[in-house]
Amino acid sequence: MKKLAMHWKIIIGMILGIIFGFIMNSIDGGREFVGDWVAPFGKIFINLLKLIAVPLILASLIKGVTDLKDISKIKNMGLRTIGIYVATTLVAIVIGLSIVNIVKPGVGMPEETIEKIKLRYANDAGVADKLMKASAQKDAGPLQSLVDIFPSNIFQSFVEASMLQVIFFALFVGICLLLIGEKKAKPLVDFFDSLNEVVMKMVDLIMLFAPYAVFALLANVIIAFDDTEILIKLLYYAFCVVGGLILMIGFYLLLVSVYTKKSPLWFLKQISPAQLLAFSTSSSAATLPVTMERVEEHLGVDGEVAGFVLPVGATVNMDGTSLYQGIAAVFIMQVIWPEGLTFTNQLVIVATALLASIGSAAVPSAGMVMLVIVLESIGFPAELLPIGLALIFAVDRPLDMCRTVVNVTGDATVSMMVAKSLGKLHDNPQAKEWDDNYEDVK
Ligand code: ASP
Repeated sequence: MKKLAMHWKIIIGMILGIIFGFIMNSIDGGREFVGDWVAPFGKIFINLLKLIAVPLILASLIKGVTDLKDISKIKNMGLRTIGIYVATTLVAIVIGLSIVNIVKPGVGMPEETIEKIKLRYANDAGVADKLMKASAQKDAGPLQSLVDIFPSNIFQSFVEASMLQVIFFALFVGICLLLIGEKKAKPLVDFFDSLNEVVMKMVDLIMLFAPYAVFALLANVIIAFDDTEILIKLLYYAFCVVGGLILMIGFYLLLVSVYTKKSPLWFLKQISPAQLLAFSTSSSAATLPVTMERVEEHLGVDGEVAGFVLPVGATVNMDGTSLYQGIAAVFIMQVIWPEGLTFTNQLVIVATALLASIGSAAVPSAGMVMLVIVLESIGFPAELLPIGLALIFAVDRPLDMCRTVVNVTGDATVSMMVAKSLGKLHDNPQAKEWDDNYEDVK
């Protein structure tokens, strides 16, 4: 019998998880049951993915750099990657701002709805938490994000899974391995090569568990929705964000087909397990190992390129997040601060949303924290901030799930473009299965 493709298994797990979540939501004690007995399996899955993220970045990047064998090629790839990332992010913000200005989802929202949302969420612990995190970020000096890239203790960076620091360290080690010459570098290069293989195998094994994990993750998301009435009132705004995100996916497909000459449908099919996991986990960092596996083994991007472009992308390239920030900022202004809606402010939003998406951590809800900084940059009144966040809080989780899909798809697209431009996009990639060598060792 033909095996069911991974993306179908995951989709079935997701649908069953959603149905199960709704059923549990409607019966007494159902939520507690999901929280105690189902959700932990989703957590285990995310833990496993996070567990391998740091060794994977380290091994794949060091292997990538040493395989390139040439420092000028690394520079070339780095510049191309950052250039395309910034360009796609700008496109995303412009799409977001255009939609929100044309559709105007916040204009004419009834006073009574605003009051209701204010009462329900303005003093919510979740909103307060985002504001606190944003103020911690804001208090840092202007060059703090730059300083943060350079670790003083690499073990601390591993412990904190500080992606940019690990990337910097891996690049540093890789370049020095090139500089000491092939012979002396060989033992360490072989070590990281082998580590890379081991971690990729771990991805295959963890993925066997994915259909069950997404069941648990989605059931847990469904039981967290308590106020469907407010959710419905925000549908107009949510549709704007989702519409923008769909346009962005369309833009990627166009890039894939025009620039890399590959079929967009084929691209979607190959990358879909990573997209589905991005949706279920709301974290591009947790999805990174799977994105790497799909991009290398299914889309045919050379490991040298994927190992660099994807970890960097997971942290600095968040097109979905920046598109969302543009729409959310203007939506909030349309509802409670219409006098702030000037052309200059919208230009400032373009610049700050770009920087904010680079600065956002690749974890659930990070985009909302950075939204506060975007709003502050245009002089949004501080006393209105809790109300502003309250306005969008109810729908943040589902929108976070959708924007994470775009973040991951954007990284995959750019990795294909960079690979194509360097002649490192292969036509017939060979996917490895978890049991390729099983017969020999069982
Ligand atoms: N959850 C998003 C990600 O991990 C970030 C965000 O927009 O909140 O890519």
